[in-house]
Amino acid sequence: MSRLLVIGCGGVAQVAIQKCAQNSKVFTEMCIASRTVSKCDAMKEKLEKQGSPLKITTATVNADDVNDVIKLIKEYQPDVVLNVALPYQDLVIMDACLECKVDYVDTANYEPEDTDEPVWRAAYEKRCKEKGFTAYFDYSYQWAYMDKFKEAGITGLLGTGFDPGVTSVFTAYAKKHYFDEIHTVDILDCNGGDHGYAFATNFNPEINLREVSANGSYWEDGHWVETKPMEIKRVYDFPQVGQKDMYLLHHEEIEALGKNFPEIKRIRFFMTFGQSYLDHMRCLEDVGMLSTSPIMFEGREIVPIQFLKALLPDPASLGPRTVGKTNIGCIFTGVKDGKEKTVYIYNVCDHQECYKELGSQAISYTTGVPAMIGTALVASGIWNKKGVFTTDEFDPDPYMDMLNEYGLPWVVDESPVLVD
Ligand code: NDP
Repeated sequence: MSRLLVIGCGGVAQVAIQKCAQNSKVFTEMCIASRTVSKCDAMKEKLEKQGSPLKITTATVNADDVNDVIKLIKEYQPDVVLNVALPYQDLVIMDACLECKVDYVDTANYEPEDTDEPVWRAAYEKRCKEKGFTAYFDYSYQWAYMDKFKEAGITGLLGTGFDPGVTSVFTAYAKKHYFDEIHTVDILDCNGGDHGYAFATNFNPEINLREVSANGSYWEDGHWVETKPMEIKRVYDFPQVGQKDMYLLHHEEIEALGKNFPEIKRIRFFMTFGQSYLDHMRCLEDVGMLSTSPIMFEGREIVPIQFLKALLPDPASLGPRTVGKTNIGCIFTGVKDGKEKTVYIYNVCDHQECYKELGSQAISYTTGVPAMIGTALVASGIWNKKGVFTTDEFDPDPYMDMLNEYGLPWVVDESPVLVD
């Protein structure tokens, strides 16, 4: 019987909200709050037309302003806040939850909007040298809330999307049921979908393009190995999707898994990209369109990547035109009872099936469903630890059951082809 405050009403949020409405055992009341309240009102209307039993309200909130978020939380008095706005807002919303002593859940690791801000930049450059990876996001900012959340008696669940999120739960599940020791993890994120545009991103363009155009890195023997963007390429034949090119990227769950499973010798993350996507991205980067630094244009300041976002299709609009499937999962090697073992746990999701069910494409779906699951487990007290945690730090079994129940069934293959 929980009262939920959702912040953000974009592609991922719209799935998470509809899935929360399907889970009326846990969620009974919901406030949908975002910068553009008309999107929240449209979602409320859609749910009410479907006969949702939830009591739904909407609100405008500026999640860059901690006082605005605190005011909303004090007015609405939620049991839990689900942040499905952007990673830029993570710390502000965490601060507001701390002030109001309310549980906090998100799907993406904090990163700053302005990566040229001098104080952040100095800390970033120090971290690049010390830790050996140059991604704009790292967990240190959110892990720093551990003691404060513990003292306040609240839970912070970080990164409950698919990757991170489900991939970390797959790792905890593999450890619990299949291995005494895991030695390697390869996380494979394949989108075999086609939206028919020459170039579009499947989730927020700014966040997506920042991630994909950055250096890659992987975790090996307790330290980071960094690569140039797209330097490591492999080809993999994905169940139900087929053969795809995939490239090694830095990804946030590597950092958490490396810390929480020190036995794992190597953790890599690969994502599939078509040649057309890569060619467009390289061209945009070469002409400066991926820059996050403001420039003056005809007397006003614009940020090139934000201008590009305005030109690209809204990821939430890709649903009707995207066909094909995603396959996201993890290949584990390790030992059980003294014998070497290999396990591949993955989910296959069909873009058109997602669209038929909720009006969204599979990338929003595969993120929004786990966002609901993590929030429900925290709200119902099944995942109940005080402090700040990633999804691999709880019992994976109830989460795995809910994946099957809420539209993301998974497969365990005990003789997969390995990635070299
Ligand atoms: P969208 O851009 O579609 O939606 C973001 C939403 O947040 C919009 O409703 C936007 O409002 C709102 N918002 C942005 N800034 C503010 C603000 N200052 N105050 C209030 N609301 C704000 O993004 P997505 O739905 O694609 O992504 C949502 C999150 O999910 C991101 O953090 C992304 O990184 C994460 N993600 C995680 C994945 C995973 O597997 N873990 C995979 C994919 C995404 P407006 O409508 O006004 O723009």
